[in-house]
Amino acid sequence: MHTQVAIIGSGPSGLLLGQLLTEAGIDNIILDRVGKEYILGRVRAGVLEEGTVSLIDKAKAGARMHAEGLPHDGFSLAFDGRDHRIDLFGLTGGKRVMVYGQTEVTRDLMERREGSGAQTIYEAANVEPHDFDGTAPYVSYEKGGVAHRIDCDFIAGCDGFHGASRKAVPEKSLRVFEKVYPFGWLGILAEVPPVSHELIYANHPRGFALCSMRSQHRSRYYIQCPLDEKIEDWSDDRFWDELRRRLPAHHADALVTAPSFEKSIAPLRSFVAEPMRFGRMFLVGDAAHIVPPTGAKGLNLAASDVHYLFSGLIEHYQDRSNAGVDAYSQRALARIWKAVRFSWWMTTMMHRFPDTGDFDQRIQEAELDYLTHSRAASTALAENYVGLAY
Ligand SMILES: Cc1cc2nc3c(=O)[nH]c(=O)nc-3n(C[C@H](O)[C@H](O)[C@H](O)COP(=O)(O)OP(=O)(O)OC[C@H]3O[C@@H](n4cnc5c(N)ncnc54)[C@H](O)[C@@H]3O)c2cc1C
Repeated sequence: MHTQVAIIGSGPSGLLLGQLLTEAGIDNIILDRVGKEYILGRVRAGVLEEGTVSLIDKAKAGARMHAEGLPHDGFSLAFDGRDHRIDLFGLTGGKRVMVYGQTEVTRDLMERREGSGAQTIYEAANVEPHDFDGTAPYVSYEKGGVAHRIDCDFIAGCDGFHGASRKAVPEKSLRVFEKVYPFGWLGILAEVPPVSHELIYANHPRGFALCSMRSQHRSRYYIQCPLDEKIEDWSDDRFWDELRRRLPAHHADALVTAPSFEKSIAPLRSFVAEPMRFGRMFLVGDAAHIVPPTGAKGLNLAASDVHYLFSGLIEHYQDRSNAGVDAYSQRALARIWKAVRFSWWMTTMMHRFPDTGDFDQRIQEAELDYLTHSRAASTALAENYVGLAY
């Protein structure tokens, strides 16, 4: 088999890149080690920057997102029993975010891909990139016990943090930066109307809480928890009680509860691998970087990587210039590090660390008070939250 771009990974970055290339007439094949239903069962991100929305539109997969997604003009920071709105729209000159689940983005991109006839190989075992340092790279895999090979011009490693692409790079060629946070997020999904029509990020001496949603009828709630916490120790009642304790009284009183239908604990980590280009292979999205979800940046960074790589590949195929692919790593990393900084800052300001004492709690509250009462500080928060320009 031969294709122009072999894409490893059928998550949001692989699907978005694949669909943009397909719409531009550039042949590509996507490989994933798991099946379509498994991918669609993963519950993850839900806040899309305008740049991500535009890219999904460009991939011609945005119709349902615009019909069912919830545009948000602001969010709340809750602390010290109070609640303060960050007016994203007013502070950024008219920008907003779109609340629409990653699962739905993935479903829309998969459907568009199927409609356009582009090839995806699911349940491909032992996927491995080869010879990306030379001029004839290829990807090998097994399907149904039979070995296959796809020759290509380029390989896009869109296979997430545990994927095969980054692992194929010699250790000496990679520089890795990592920070592991000493807590996780316990999250639930429940078929209940959200407690507020906008997201609430709550700082509380008992720990962080986030009130989020997927639709007018489906809510996603999180509470910070120790890393060694066991999911089976968290009944729904215990979760709802703990969430109420961390919210200002008027929100706690308004909270509607119901049995959860998804419950999981996610560890929090910051991770960046540099560079993101190795000859004819590129790392994209979570394959190259992870951020804690506090800044809602993981999926959005995957989309901005896709933007830079897609532009570079278009220049290569249409303009016969390698300037864009040569600049990919540098351009992507410049934006990534700013989002890594923002996510780290939000995480540090909103969470209770094991060594957080009364002094540190007061410092966090003073920072939040400053942030919510200074237009300059609120603007800096808002412009990062809606997403920095590409
Ligand atoms: C539990 C969890 C919760 C999250 N919550 C949020 C959130 O609230 N907000 C936010 O912004 N971000 C969140 N994120 C991050 C966000 O989901 C990711 O940034 C986003 O999924 C990145 O997309 P991706 O396509 O780069 O990687 P992925 O979504 O990880 O997709 C990678 C794909 O590659 C495939 N793959 C892996 N290994 C191989 C292999 N060897 N061969 C072939 N295929 C392979 C996988 O099956 C997968 O389909 C969360 C992530 C996790 C794990």
